[in-house]
Amino acid sequence: MSELNQHIGNQSGRTPVRELYAVQSDILHKQIIVTGGAGFLGSHLCERLLRSGHRVICVDNFSTGSKQNIMHLLGYDTFSVIDHDIVEPFDLEADEIYNLACPASPPHYQADPVHTTLTSVLGAYNLLTLAARYNARIFQASTSEVYGDPHIHPQVETYWGNVNPFGPRSCYDEGKRCAETLFFDFHKAYDTEIKIVRIFNTFGPNMRPDDGRVVSNFIVQALKGEDITIYGDGKQTRSFCYVDDLIEGFVRLMAADASVTGPVNLGNPGEFMIGELAKIVIDLTGSRSRIVHHPLPVDDPRQRRPDISLAMRELGWQPQVQLTEGLEKTITYFDSRLSLSGNRLREMAR
Ligand code: NAD
Ligand code: UDP
Repeated sequence: MSELNQHIGNQSGRTPVRELYAVQSDILHKQIIVTGGAGFLGSHLCERLLRSGHRVICVDNFSTGSKQNIMHLLGYDTFSVIDHDIVEPFDLEADEIYNLACPASPPHYQADPVHTTLTSVLGAYNLLTLAARYNARIFQASTSEVYGDPHIHPQVETYWGNVNPFGPRSCYDEGKRCAETLFFDFHKAYDTEIKIVRIFNTFGPNMRPDDGRVVSNFIVQALKGEDITIYGDGKQTRSFCYVDDLIEGFVRLMAADASVTGPVNLGNPGEFMIGELAKIVIDLTGSRSRIVHHPLPVDDPRQRRPDISLAMRELGWQPQVQLTEGLEKTITYFDSRLSLSGNRLREMAR
């Protein structure tokens, strides 16, 4: 049995595990559940919370997350992992809950759209029930996708969005919108302390090479010397936030006064065309890759850029890492992860 498997408890149905993880009556060090903790963002969040001295329980079904992302955290005796699907109810005591569980990349969330909707809606319901039972503060990883293909630019939190209710992206967009509704209704009905962030495209180490989102696709293609696949004409825009900046925003929102419920936009307001991003990645990697164009996916939003005035005002937060700096770090990560027998792909792709 691997070291990780020894740390993983298997959760099916309603197994009560709170006996195993009784909350310590320690004011400084909280017991914190991170769902989706083995994913890209979740693994960074678990590390940040463990470094701050908290007891962290990662709950993940390992659908898009990986054991590799959390292997380095096993040295903390304050870290535990539970293999569980949040669509199924479970019982676990906590002071705080971060709900990040949900596939985030279009090809992954569209692979099983019914399960994606259930993850957002039933998963949120199950976690809100826990939060209400144990009086825990609960955080929801919502998304800029709640704005759909936006008519207001940049997007402010008061904008209600332009979302197709039954297109290929709807399982994700509408699931996340309904989760926000559930959060606010628990807040009103049971005084549950809620924190909602709307995350704009974020990138960095611990993304899967086959994640399918644009930054990881372009970097992996450039490092392998393969064609860089721009969908559509490449004039659609996105704003890219480096993972460390985002996690700082998460922690600040969770620590903010109870009256700060969100939703709060977190993202980098720098706006880039996808064609520009492809050229930057080619430049930074020095790759010989060619750019090719593929059809634009259905309902692909034309533009995306956060208005972060609320986060600046309420959390004193704004991104610190520029796009090229974040891309360099991410390129180094993928280069070392994908390199074979010590041969750096970056050298071979030139
Ligand atoms: P990811 O796919 O890397 O991580 C998702 C994690 O959730 C994985 O570990 C996966 O195994 C787990 N998971 C999925 N369904 C589950 C279920 N039913 N039960 C238990 N675990 C489950 O994605 P990410 O980029 O780390 O995104 C994390 C969260 O942030 C998601 O909720 C996503 O919607 C949100 N978000 C991310 C971005 C971004 O740019 N990264 C943007 C907007 C919103
Ligand atoms: N995209 C692209 N090539 C790829 C992957 C994505 O041109 O290999 C485009 C995609 O069509 C979208 C943008 O890049 O316009 C961002 O896509 P991503 O999947 O990263 O995030 P989202 O669409 O959810 O914002």
